[in-house]
Amino acid sequence: MLTLTKVTKQFGSQIAVDKLDLNIPQGLVFGLLGPNGSGKSTLLRMIMGLLKPTSGNILIFNNNSPGDFEVKHLLGYMPQQLAVYPGLSVRENVLFYGRLYGIPETELETRLLDILEMVELSSCLDNLAADLSGGMLRRLMLATTLIHQPSLVILDEPTAGVDPSLRLRFWEWFEELAHGGTSILITTHHISEASRCNKVAFLRQGKLLEHDTPEKLMQRYDSANLEEAFVQATQANFGEMK
Ligand code: ADP
Ligand code: MG
Repeated sequence: MLTLTKVTKQFGSQIAVDKLDLNIPQGLVFGLLGPNGSGKSTLLRMIMGLLKPTSGNILIFNNNSPGDFEVKHLLGYMPQQLAVYPGLSVRENVLFYGRLYGIPETELETRLLDILEMVELSSCLDNLAADLSGGMLRRLMLATTLIHQPSLVILDEPTAGVDPSLRLRFWEWFEELAHGGTSILITTHHISEASRCNKVAFLRQGKLLEHDTPEKLMQRYDSANLEEAFVQATQANFGEMK
């Protein structure tokens, strides 16, 4: 579904993503785990076709031009920063994104109600986005990301700043989506979230250190948890952490 070959992104002299090779098969919840500045958002932006790699190749749904329209409608992208219109209501925001993807009006209303029910915003249809709490905004963003029923959902720290109980709800929705056959690529710096992924890639300073199932990563580094495995993988690649 997604194959990255020696993907590199340089901003001036800084290398944000460094010769990254990765193959992500369909039907998984795949996590990118790494601290701030490790290149997670840059990598997702390149996969979405919003940034051009400095070098390397991205093959997505058998297409090597990630920004292409045929590919774009298969993808749902929830960026790290706020991406809804504060002056539009909850309903209008979802309709806006639905129309952008050309969903027929007859179908759009049903999908809108279904998706807002899932993210538990049915009672706020006519509230302005500007008046929503942080957690409600994140739920609205998820709804706008899913309205066109993408095959691959790309989520950049979707639970950043949300309270722990909502974070757990988000994960129930992700697992529900994955169960229905949707692939999910998600970034996080929460170990607890990474542990729930089918596969996890460790990223640090733009480099991919390891990727495997959480269980195998813990076994490989003889670690009791994924956090310890991440630290061990970092030490193996960079020496002692500063
Ligand atoms: P993460 O999402 O893991 O926090 P980012 O992909 O946002 O990491 O950033 C990786 C590195 O690239 C950081 O050092 C960041 O400062 C740098 N970077 C990201 N975007 C830009 C940009 N548009 N211009 C210059 N440097 C950037
Ligand atoms: Mg980021």
